[in-house]
Amino acid sequence: MNRAWRACLHLSFVIIPAGLPATSNPDTPSITVRTYNLANAPLKDLEQASRVAGEIFKRAGIEVRWLSCALSVDQARSNRACEEAIGGHDLDVIVSTSSITRDGMATDTSLGFASPLAASSQVVVLWDRSKKMAESSGVPAGIILGHAMAHELGHLLLQSMEHSRTGLMRSRWGKEELLRAESGRLLFTTEQATAMTGELMK
Ligand SMILES: [Zn+2]
Repeated sequence: MNRAWRACLHLSFVIIPAGLPATSNPDTPSITVRTYNLANAPLKDLEQASRVAGEIFKRAGIEVRWLSCALSVDQARSNRACEEAIGGHDLDVIVSTSSITRDGMATDTSLGFASPLAASSQVVVLWDRSKKMAESSGVPAGIILGHAMAHELGHLLLQSMEHSRTGLMRSRWGKEELLRAESGRLLFTTEQATAMTGELMK
């Protein structure tokens, strides 16, 4: 992984997904997200994560088209569906584990990474840490992973590593945030949604 990537979510969780067709209202900002399940996370958890993340973006006024690409980046090169997805608003979500991601990962508790300042289109979310957080909190791992995905993708769309004091883009999620996540109330702020949709409509 790119060494420039910076740790972000100081929790313990991660993610990814299956393919949902674009519903496409041409007036609605949209992104295409390709997912790579390097962590061999269960499909049901990845599907739940993609549904959760998709709903978070929908509440922010953004449609997400999901493409489940491959178990590895190399395999993706032969996946036509993923080849077709190349475009300005295409992002990659790599579901990985802390053991295979990079040096230093084992010593912090991040749930994922993004590198918006490097003009990257990739984020990494960590399945093992999502699962661990799920075990300690009682919140399903797919829900935690979905929120981690949305948080990291939010960094890319906001083009910032900054965190907010409330909501999905908080740097740390405590009991209150996890309760909100479980009930679908851990979201982008109105200001963040406006910034993201404005950027996508340029
Ligand atoms: Zn973050």
